[in-house]
Amino acid sequence: MKTIDCHCHIQDAKYRDNFEEFAEELKEKCLFVIVSGANRQWNRDAVTLAKKYLDFIYATIGLHPIDASKTSKEEFEEELKFIEKNKDNIVAVGEIGLDYHWEKDEQKIDLQKQRFIEFLNLAKKINKPVVIHSWDAEEDCIDILKQQNMEKVVMHCFSGKKHAMEKALSYGDYICFSTNVLFSKALKKLARDCPVEKMLIETDSPYLDPNHTGKNLPWNTLLSVKKIAELKKTDPDMLLNKIIENAKEVFGI
Ligand SMILES: [Zn+2]
Repeated sequence: MKTIDCHCHIQDAKYRDNFEEFAEELKEKCLFVIVSGANRQWNRDAVTLAKKYLDFIYATIGLHPIDASKTSKEEFEEELKFIEKNKDNIVAVGEIGLDYHWEKDEQKIDLQKQRFIEFLNLAKKINKPVVIHSWDAEEDCIDILKQQNMEKVVMHCFSGKKHAMEKALSYGDYICFSTNVLFSKALKKLARDCPVEKMLIETDSPYLDPNHTGKNLPWNTLLSVKKIAELKKTDPDMLLNKIIENAKEVFGI
C-alpha cells in the first residue's frame, strides 16, 4: 500500500541532486506528500514543488517560531504577504508556533507569541488550516489556538505530555506522529492512546531518520504505521487508510 507523509522538508538541499529520480521513487511509494516551509527560502521552494507536482506534492508555508522572532518587522510582513499571495498554491499555513526549547529569552518569547497570533489571523483570513511547531511550549500553543478559535489544527511532530495531547484532542486538533514513534517510549504511549480519527503521520525529513543516515525519507512513515498498528492491535492497512482520510479531510485534498 502507498503511504503518505504529512510533514517533510524535501525542498532541502539534501534532495536536490537527482530530484527527478527521487520524485519517481516518491510516486511509487507515496500517494501524496506535504512539504512544509519554515523559512523564507524553504517557503519559496515548497511552492515551486507544489506547482510542479500538482496533486502529488502539497505545500504549507510559514516561519519556524525561532525564525519568526529573528525576522525584522519588514521581512515578517513581506512573508505574510507572500503567504496570502500564494493561498491557492498551499494547503495550510505552517510551520508556525512556539519554541521554548531553543528560546529562553522572555522578550523573544513574547515576540514569538505576537507573530504566532499574526499567522493565525492570516490563516483565518485565507481560510486555511494551521501546522503547529511546538517544543516545550505545547500548553501555551494549544491555549492560544483555542483563544483564537482555530478550527483546523495539526500538531506537527507532537512530543508533549499526555494531558497536553488530551487537551488538544478535546479541541478537535489532529496529532501528527513522527518516525520517532519507532524509538520513543513516551511517543509509543501517546500513539497508542491517540484516537485513530485524529491521527496523522510524518517524517519531518530530512530530520529524525530512523536509519540514522542523516536523510530521512517520506516513505519511512510506513514503518510508523506498522509500529502504531502493533501498539493499537489493529490492522496496518486499515490504520493507514484512516490516516489518509484524516489528511485529506484536514488539508482539504
Ligand atoms: Zn518540520
